[in-house]
Amino acid sequence: MRSDHSHSMKLVILGRDGTINRYRDDHVKSIDELEPLPGALEAVARLNHAGWHTVMATNQPGIGRGLLDMAALNAVHMRLSQLLAEKGGRLDAAFFCPHTPEEGCTCRKPLPGLIRQVGERFSVDLSTVHMVGASLKDVQTALAAGCVPHLVQGDRLGVLNELQLAELKTQVPNVRLHTDLGAFADYLIQEDRRRAKAEARAAGFAAE
Ligand SMILES: [Zn+2]
Repeated sequence: MRSDHSHSMKLVILGRDGTINRYRDDHVKSIDELEPLPGALEAVARLNHAGWHTVMATNQPGIGRGLLDMAALNAVHMRLSQLLAEKGGRLDAAFFCPHTPEEGCTCRKPLPGLIRQVGERFSVDLSTVHMVGASLKDVQTALAAGCVPHLVQGDRLGVLNELQLAELKTQVPNVRLHTDLGAFADYLIQEDRRRAKAEARAAGFAAE
């Protein structure tokens, strides 16, 4: 029953810039420019300890624009893994789109290509996967890929104003808003416990 197990894998797909580390208009080009958001690394570690696998999916058009190369991106992701390990957390993988919008690829969010790659790699039903990001694009991506959509507002609050948030809620009624990744992690862990308890109760009644 290995395949059943993998399909019920608890998986979270995280955006990077604005979700885990501070967003920069000019791209994070080196480890010096990598600034984890307060509580974000701890949030990933809490998710991991509660049995969630965590994967990162990020647009990195700076590569296509020649602002950083693959070695620099790898260095940034290795540094992120290091910092995360210090807090007891880990990412299972980092998926990225290296293209500029002009290249017309299928992996650049909000297209679902990158997320489908995650689904294939982990043999997981995307409708059970929670996707959390800091931009409208992330929510649109989650919707396109059929994931459960979450938006953290913390770092990029200025990007979406009240009106846009209301509009977003109309477009994607099941989107959940969280102040930051810490709040998202707390929500997901509590929700999961509630569900497990309810399932255990239901199983108990069924057994009687
Ligand atoms: Zn791409």
